[in-house]
Amino acid sequence: MDGLDGQTNPFLDLDQGEAIQAYYIWIDGSGQALRGKTKTILKKTMDPKDLPIWNFDGSSTNQSLGENSDIYIKPVACFKDPFRRGDNILVMCETLDHEGNVHPTNKRNSCFANMEKCKDLHPWFGIEQEYTMFDYTGVHPYGWPANGYPGPQGPYYCGVGSDKVKGRKIVEAHYRACLYAGIKIAGSNAEVMPSQWEYQVGPCEGIEMGDHLWVSRWILQRIAEEFNVVISFDPKPIPGDWNGAGCHTNISTQPMREDGGYPEIIKAIELMGEKHVEHIISYDPSGGEDNKRRLTGLHETASIDKFSYGVAHRGASVRIPRQVEADGKGYFEDRRPSSNSDPYVVTNRIIRTICLGE
Ligand code: ADP
Ligand code: MN
Ligand code: MN
Ligand code: MN
Ligand code: MN
Repeated sequence: MDGLDGQTNPFLDLDQGEAIQAYYIWIDGSGQALRGKTKTILKKTMDPKDLPIWNFDGSSTNQSLGENSDIYIKPVACFKDPFRRGDNILVMCETLDHEGNVHPTNKRNSCFANMEKCKDLHPWFGIEQEYTMFDYTGVHPYGWPANGYPGPQGPYYCGVGSDKVKGRKIVEAHYRACLYAGIKIAGSNAEVMPSQWEYQVGPCEGIEMGDHLWVSRWILQRIAEEFNVVISFDPKPIPGDWNGAGCHTNISTQPMREDGGYPEIIKAIELMGEKHVEHIISYDPSGGEDNKRRLTGLHETASIDKFSYGVAHRGASVRIPRQVEADGKGYFEDRRPSSNSDPYVVTNRIIRTICLGE
């Protein structure tokens, strides 16, 4: 099959007529893995309302039992498909049970409802997605020595050179593919641990944050397939003296962004402090268990047990950027969410605390 993949496959130039291919994507029963499948749509569209509800076998995705296994998938957001190109699309979907009710693993629905309630505040988010590349085995970090470990952390963060960074081709391809798709990717950088990278998505308003981040994760994993590399979103993929991976979440509302908005920022952070436990439960798909391995108080993290905040403080739960303090307005950064967190759950929890008083 090698040599017939991607752009080297001559059949992909064949004319497809009026029909387009829509790749329906949904979150499976793990709350962190994506599934997807293709449907032919007879008329070109980028509007999810034009696309039919479809279904899949939930007994194969840990979302239902064998004897009532149909789950419906409802299109909610469309992006251009950087793999098939042309008028073909990627389609983010919500899951519904066989009676058309919100499926228990569908975390978008309630996020959307709450975002609607506070839309006058125009909540913006920017998420810094960290991840780690593994070779095709999924257990050996990509580009690490066959036996043993690379030299200690220090030279890798934002580095250049084959001895410093591994997998840049994937990073570059992913960045460009996100731009093409219409994802609001904001930047990227090599991370502190070799083979670990970050990209940022945002600012996104309301529900858009979850839609864009989930599809950016799908594109990343799909691109890595072309390179025989496996992407891990585990928050602490290598135990020991190696940085973990998070999803720092940057937050602002309209009043925080306006002149004199600083007290609004402090008010929101103090509300978050009162709900620390509820937030930790929402910040990874295992109710805080995954993040326990990462939020140790070392490696630029705060302890999972205690809420703290500070200006320019990378060892705090929440950091206020230095520039924001200087400007007296702007946004703040919640450093707690894990790299495998669900952005629908994270952004929902945040606005419930700071906008809805829940
Ligand atoms: P860090 O300094 O923590 O590494 P990054 O530059 O990696 O920060 O990421 C900052 C993120 O904050 C980006 O995703 C950006 O889109 C987002 N951001 C910028 N301004 C705002 C704002 N006013 N509200 C919410 N998010 C914002
Ligand atoms: Mn079948
Ligand atoms: Mn960053
Ligand atoms: Mn980072
Ligand atoms: Mn950050």
